[in-house]
Order: sequence, then structure tokens, then C-alpha cells
Amino acid sequence: PTTPPMQRRLASKMRFVADLSQCLFDFVIQLLPTTEEMAVKEDVRKLLERLIRTIEPDSRLLSFGSTANGFSLRNSDMDLCCLIDSKERLAATDLVTMLGDLLERETKFHVKPLPHARIPIVKLSLDPSPGLPLGIACDIGFENRLALENTRLLMCYAMVDPTRVRTMVLFLKVWSKRRKINSPYKGTLSSYGYVLLVIYFLVHVKNPPVLPNLQQMPPLRPITTEDTHLAGYNTWFFDDIELLRQRWHSDNTETVAELLIDFFRYYSRDFSYNTGVASIRAGLLKKESKGWQNDLSGGRYNDSRERNRLCIEDPFEIDFNVARCVTKDGLYTIRGEFMRAARVLSTRPERAIIALAELCE
Ligand code: ATP
Ligand code: MG
Repeated sequence: PTTPPMQRRLASKMRFVADLSQCLFDFVIQLLPTTEEMAVKEDVRKLLERLIRTIEPDSRLLSFGSTANGFSLRNSDMDLCCLIDSKERLAATDLVTMLGDLLERETKFHVKPLPHARIPIVKLSLDPSPGLPLGIACDIGFENRLALENTRLLMCYAMVDPTRVRTMVLFLKVWSKRRKINSPYKGTLSSYGYVLLVIYFLVHVKNPPVLPNLQQMPPLRPITTEDTHLAGYNTWFFDDIELLRQRWHSDNTETVAELLIDFFRYYSRDFSYNTGVASIRAGLLKKESKGWQNDLSGGRYNDSRERNRLCIEDPFEIDFNVARCVTKDGLYTIRGEFMRAARVLSTRPERAIIALAELCE
């Protein structure tokens, strides 16, 4: 007996989706950093920590960003944060200048101290060598405790459902870099922004949700404001992942490929860019309620107009729009790329690998 066309289409769709999930795993696995690369980076961190301690004996140098949250790709840069545990410490500006001088004298790094930037940092890079074929790029900042906490939050989200979350995030990072829409300096979105878009989608858009809202789960024991607040912001979230794995279970059984296809569809068509704010803490918010509306009335130049085209609330610094660097043109390009990706995946070529190659070309 012949199979009816409906059933044939469904079977072909299911085959494509299964095939695409497998391709996505294979694709991201080969882009993960090698153990050797991770060891070299850890050695660099230790070396830099030793040097900084000659200036500030009570300091620690910690990794944040992708090297610390499990979303690292081969050859991604290192984000380091220096914490100083003593009360009498040098001002960040002075430390940046002194550290810059010291590293220039004592190491082979190219050093660029930026003592007067909004957030003072020292930028370092190392030329490629046989042991490190792609070199290293690294930023050292100071006392950025909120960044350490948001790194820990993203790491916990990755640990709740490692396969689906990490595969989606890593793929989107590669995709956004290859499609050239991952440069806040050029009006598009940072990696951090894309990661927040993925988590927002998995917590608040998918029904049933793939991830719980870690910031809204009830704490296991009473907590005080002092325990949870940092620089005036509430940084509490449920971080006992072992316990969470025992107690929380997602009813969403979609595969990575299904989630990715739906992610592109949602951000090309359904997210309310004009009025909405994506908040992983609180769900969909209104720009109005945050005072982030873009002023389209013309007239006097209004700084907020370019700043709030795309609105993504930082999980802790809730008065901060992570996507504030995204310009009108930048958002147009990003949405165009979401649409293109949704289109490529919906045409379902014969083999999923071809779709992936086309997606990232
Ligand atoms: P990549 O591998 O591309 O470097 P990444 O995961 O390290 O990606 P980045 O965008 O480099 O992501 O961000 C690193 C960290 O810096 C984030 O975890 C966050 O703590 C902080 N950060 C970056 N961009 C912002 C931003 N716009 N607002 C607030 N914090 C940010
Ligand atoms: Mg980084």
C-alpha cells in the first residue's frame, strides 16, 4: 500500500530533525577547546596572578565569561577579574597603570593598559607560537564581582540540561561570529547577549519550559538581604544543582534541532522588538516599565533612541540593557540573519549537514 503524502512529509521532517540534532552535536564537539589549550590558559592565569600579587599581595585573579561558564569555543579570549581582599587598596586606575608597566617589563605579552576606560582594564595578547598556534587574547578587569556572579548563573543553567543548553549556545556563538553579528563595537550583539536570548527562550518562551527560572525558585533556607545583595543588586539564585537535578524535571522532550528551529522562528517573527524587554529574571517586560522606550519623535537627539532598539535585561544589574550597543542597522541585520536561518532550516534540504554548512557560510 502507498503511504499518504501527509505521513510521508511527517516522516521526512522527523528524519531531518534527528539528523540535524546529530550534526549539531558533531559540529560543536570539534570546536571545543582542547585540554591542552585549557591547561595553557590556566598556566597563564596563575602566572598573571603571581605577578599581580607583587603589587597587591592580597589579590586573587579569577576567570569569568566563557572560560568559566562552559560556553567556551576553541581559541576564545580569556576574561579575568582581579579581586583585592584588603580594605586599603590602590584605585583601579593606578593599578591598571602599574600592572601595565610590570607586565611590559616582565612578560612577552603585548600590553595595552586602559586606565581611563569606563571600566579600567589591561588588555593583553600573546603572539602565536608552536605550543599555542593561535596565540591568546586576555582582558584583566578589577573588582567586577557582578560579572563573576552572572558567569556562575550561566554555568548553573548550562548544568541543568547540559546537552541541549550547551549545544544551542555553542552553535549560536559560532553562527553569530561567522555571520558577523557578534560585535558590540559595530552595533551588533555580544556573546553574552546571545546566551541570555537562549536562556530567556528556554525558560519563558518554550511551553513546557526546558529550564526552570533559577532566580525565582524558593530558597532552601531563609536568606537575608546582606547574603544576597552585591553593589545594591539582588544576586540570589538557586545554585544547588545536584539537588535541582533530583527535584526538577522538564516535561519538554524536544530535541536540540527542534529547539533551534523554533528559536530562529521566535526571534525572527514573534519577539516584540518594539515594546518588549527579554528578562530571564522576570519574563517579558515592557520597555515603558523600565524607562527604556526608544524615542521615535525625532527632534532633539535622544541618546536612548539608539540605545534601546533591542532590550535584554541583565540578570542582576536590572537597570542595565545588555543590548544597548545594538543600533538600528545592527538590529535590522540581526533579525535578517534570524529570518535567513529560519528559512534555511525550514526548506529541509536532503541532508542536515548541508543545511548547517549553508547556515554558517
Ligand atoms: P566569547 O567566547 O565570545 O568571548 P563570552 O561567553 O566570554 O564569549 P562575552 O560577551 O565575552 O562572552 O562576555 C564575558 C562576560 O563579560 C560575561 O559573562 C559577562 O559577565 C560580561 N559581559 C559581557 N558583555 C556584557 C554586557 N554587555 N553587559 C554586562 N556584562 C557583560
Ligand atoms: Mg569572552
